Amino acid sequence: MILGQNMENSIYKLSRQDIIHLKGYQSARMIGDQGHVWLNANESPYEFIFNIKNLKYNRYPEFQPKKLIEKYSIYSNTSIENILVSRGSDEAIELLIRVFCRYKKDYIIICPPTYAMYSKISEIYGIHNIFIPMFKNCSLNVKKIKLFSLNSKLIYICRPNNPTGHIIDVLDIIDILEYTSRTTIVVIDEAYIEFCINDNLIYLLKQYHNLVILRTLSKAFGLAGIRCGFAVANVKIIKLLKKVITPYPLPVPSIYIANKALNKKGILRMQSQVKLLNNNKSWLIKEINKISFVEYVYPSSTNYILVQFKSSDYVFRKLLDQGIVLRDQSHIKGLLNCIRISIGSYEECVYLINALRSISSC
Ligand SMILES: *Cc1c(COP(=O)(O)O)cnc(C)c1O
Repeated sequence: MILGQNMENSIYKLSRQDIIHLKGYQSARMIGDQGHVWLNANESPYEFIFNIKNLKYNRYPEFQPKKLIEKYSIYSNTSIENILVSRGSDEAIELLIRVFCRYKKDYIIICPPTYAMYSKISEIYGIHNIFIPMFKNCSLNVKKIKLFSLNSKLIYICRPNNPTGHIIDVLDIIDILEYTSRTTIVVIDEAYIEFCINDNLIYLLKQYHNLVILRTLSKAFGLAGIRCGFAVANVKIIKLLKKVITPYPLPVPSIYIANKALNKKGILRMQSQVKLLNNNKSWLIKEINKISFVEYVYPSSTNYILVQFKSSDYVFRKLLDQGIVLRDQSHIKGLLNCIRISIGSYEECVYLINALRSISSC
């Protein structure tokens, strides 16, 4: 008993003090454990079974799977030297910090409300976060970003943004890229870009060598379970990222499935599902605007919508009672009473609207 306690004390002494006090990332998966309609993690509602029989597992996978990179370069209209495959784009967010940021010394810029992983990962690495909130109309505070960029290594911008769903003005991005071309890496997280593919910024890579674009198969491709992401950037940046990534980031079955998903057929399937989801979204927005306790629906270029209710707490709890799991965002500054709702199948959208109607008459 006493021995155990001593051990525990010395473990806390050994550990970095900031890690002891770190609040870990609360993923959607950790939060909701009841329910049967999952609209909280922006996953695809469409399942597809990949047959992975006859794969062999006694050998390590390729460090950077060649075929997969070739396919992604064709899909994304880039060259193979510009691509890194990572264990989800979350890993790429981390690799950038490993390459560019020094413990307790360097700064990164984050523009909230946005994806929480940027600040969570930088905290783990002991990097200072400079938060430069978006304006009320969801545009970037470009002036302030430029000012602070001179002392920052990285700027993380999520486009389209999670959780608001909106597309940040491309002219603001170009303005920032231009200004920071010699001082700062600008990371554009395009996790949801397939839902508004014409807004993608791949074409800027040739001109701006400080630009990194993050992509994933987790959202539109419906493959959150295989953990496959990409960093697309100038070859110098890709070479540095390869120095700090683990030697075998993707398991054999993940590589196999990612290859299938990026075949012609897989891409067509993804594109038709994007159309379906965008149609479901239009219908959902139209219907949700008729609900009396809805205050505001944010414009969305993604597979989710952010909705401000009169009381988010009430809606969240009441829908959970009916088995519908949403993502409460009301704790985030500027998002009081907001809930993020992933676009599900048409049946799930109907189920959601019926549930909202049923609680509006209580
Ligand atoms: C879901 C999400 C990711 C993470 O994607 P993975 O490839 O599954 O790690 C990255 N960025 C944003 C903004 C996301 O919403």
